[in-house]
Amino acid sequence: MMTVYNFSAGPSVLPEAVLARAAIGLRDYDGCGMSVMELSHRSKQFRQIIERAEAALRRLMRIPDEYSVLFLQGGASTQFAMVPMNLSRPGAAAAYINTGNWSERAIAEGRLFGPVDVIASSADKNFRYIPRGCRVPPDAAYLHITSNNTLEGTRFADIPETGPVPLVADMSSEILSREIDITKFGLIYAGAQKNIGPAGLTAVIVRTDLVGRQTGNLPTMMRYDVHCEARSLYNTPPCYAIYVAGLVFEWLEQLGGVAAVAELNEAKARVLYDFLDESRLFGNSVERPDRSIMNVPFTTPSDELNEKFLAAAEADGLLTLRGHRLVGGMRASIYNAMPLAGVQRLVEMMHQFEQENSGSSHV
Ligand code: PMP
Repeated sequence: MMTVYNFSAGPSVLPEAVLARAAIGLRDYDGCGMSVMELSHRSKQFRQIIERAEAALRRLMRIPDEYSVLFLQGGASTQFAMVPMNLSRPGAAAAYINTGNWSERAIAEGRLFGPVDVIASSADKNFRYIPRGCRVPPDAAYLHITSNNTLEGTRFADIPETGPVPLVADMSSEILSREIDITKFGLIYAGAQKNIGPAGLTAVIVRTDLVGRQTGNLPTMMRYDVHCEARSLYNTPPCYAIYVAGLVFEWLEQLGGVAAVAELNEAKARVLYDFLDESRLFGNSVERPDRSIMNVPFTTPSDELNEKFLAAAEADGLLTLRGHRLVGGMRASIYNAMPLAGVQRLVEMMHQFEQENSGSSHV
């Protein structure tokens, strides 16, 4: 079988070692004779699974005790609403930085629940950079950022200082890819289907003093306090996804933790950006200090060549490189589980394609 590399933005590649272990648990969890999928979420086996997953995530991200870790459903998109539902305050605007498509979705949802103040935006340059030096209104209910922009290929290299204003970050496409100081954040959320595990699970890390301050009635499932109190077991959680996430966390720990994987991620991204910066055919238009190390968009000079490249890549086992429909071109998502060898193979293939198509160069 040809080795394929999957550059999908999500759901995306999972580590081989995790898939092998998950396949065992799929049939028989720890010799109990039942599949993980068959276990009651109230069983002692599942309790062990969820507790181990939470403990590993806490170790990996150095999450202090005053933060709760929640394993929820509904995707990051549900957090676009749960954040304002739970953290907005009467008379205070919620501040947002607009860095692309997912920020815009978060902002639109925020507006359903109260006044929103978009304090900075990179829409003026088609989201090719991250705004800097924004002034955060001291009375804002919170500041929301999309720390890594999956479509546009940008990231906040530096996390904004917000003083007493709680900082909320959508980290869906970069959680666990670099070291961050949790104490700078009031709340972090991430859909699992990129760096955590299978789709269907959403991780939320929330400072507990922000929980339970909502005003008015909220649907029970939308309340962080309910989920915190029930330790993610208010209702049936996405059991199998939590199991696989736990395996991913343990895999990451064996790799040396977030610092080690961050180094690997930097190395992978460097291979690709170095090639793009030298290339006469391919280009990436993101401002350099703001380039994502997880999602790398690139183009050739024409749609026709992009299509030709995508077909050639697919024939070579380099899969799901098509850019998001809103952005076009190509995008390589090189999450934690993408090995360096996959990026090297992509670059070799791009190099060859460039030589064969050098008549249509950028210069
Ligand atoms: N935020 C970001 C940064 C994303 O990349 C995505 C999904 N690609 C979402 C939010 C939406 O996530 P979900 O599909 O889990 O709702």
